[in-house]
Amino acid sequence: MCEFNPNTRIDPCLRKLIKNLKTYTKLNTVACCCGHGKYPMTILVKFDNEIFDLVSGVVIPRIRKFYKRDKQGRYHIPEVKNAQREKNQINWRKDPCT
Ligand SMILES: [Zn+2]
Repeated sequence: MCEFNPNTRIDPCLRKLIKNLKTYTKLNTVACCCGHGKYPMTILVKFDNEIFDLVSGVVIPRIRKFYKRDKQGRYHIPEVKNAQREKNQINWRKDPCT
């Protein structure tokens, strides 16, 4: 599913986690990326008709084209990358600290 890693659907380091999510939970994973050392890891799931990042809790306000490409060709999700900086402007599914 990672466009940075086009020959495999899931980054190798995430395969076991995604498989376990599918096997042991009802969460529907729609996309994921480990971040490749530059961006936060993201695991997008569809839940209650919303797409959100299971790692950060940030809700992604679109149903496709989740990842954007940076100048080095790495893919990331701007809302998640900016989440700490723009905490008050981001739509969080749930604030993990409250
Ligand atoms: Zn990736």
